[in-house]
Amino acid sequence: MDDVSRGLFEQNGLLLLNIGILGPHYMTQLITRGISKVLSKSGKSLPNEIWTMILKFAHEGMSDKWYEGTNNDFCFVKAELVSASPENMLIRCFRHAFDSPTDELVDDVLVDEGSVYGFERYLASTTPSTAKTLDIELPELQLLSGPDTTFDIILDTTSTAPYLYASLSVPDIIATINHGNCWVCREERFICPGCTGGIAQQFDVFMGCGVGLSCPLCMGTNFSQRHKSFLESNYWSKAPEDEAEDMLYVIEDRLAELGYAGVTVQDEAWKGRE
Ligand SMILES: [Zn+2]
Ligand SMILES: [Zn+2]
Repeated sequence: MDDVSRGLFEQNGLLLLNIGILGPHYMTQLITRGISKVLSKSGKSLPNEIWTMILKFAHEGMSDKWYEGTNNDFCFVKAELVSASPENMLIRCFRHAFDSPTDELVDDVLVDEGSVYGFERYLASTTPSTAKTLDIELPELQLLSGPDTTFDIILDTTSTAPYLYASLSVPDIIATINHGNCWVCREERFICPGCTGGIAQQFDVFMGCGVGLSCPLCMGTNFSQRHKSFLESNYWSKAPEDEAEDMLYVIEDRLAELGYAGVTVQDEAWKGRE
């Protein structure tokens, strides 16, 4: 997934909004812009040094990378451009949710390669015409109403917006909204592709036993298939050391990007068969 400041988002696409850090970001924007006349109910404004203290406090646990911060709370939104000037644009985000829980969606719908790609196509364009082209039965996507369902965001040309993300993939959804829960690898992030009882075949990552293959669901189907090519070509003889090390870095980067930096990469994932 990419944060929205680095590119445009599709009108009908679904975005991920990290509302866990949105408040402090928004406050900072208002205050650094000097347009904050945030008054108490009795009409008093706070001196700037108090604001600085409040913001410092609010920023603890925040990071430019979502997975390094501590206040993560993601939801689906659709965004609408409200106004734009050369310096900034105002985007209004409307909270959406599928009418069945995300874990049920992941467990029941995302069962093979085709359903993963189908769901990702829908994330990119949630129109009825896209839905019609899918072979999968998706729960309905609904616009939510009530408190905390509409969020205004100011994006400017100089700072990034590490709380609003577009170009979503299934691994992004699992890592954020589904809290890392994955029915394929049971949160291990790796599988033995020869021992899954048919699951590996559904994602076209079936191969010999004794290797540690990146999970085709939570690490990405494409990523897993490329990893499989590496493991297959080095199955009967060991991979050259530098190639193996490159593979290790690629896997570590992928784990970090998805917020799984704490997971250790087993030797069988990069050195080859045990
Ligand atoms: Zn998994
Ligand atoms: Zn095995």
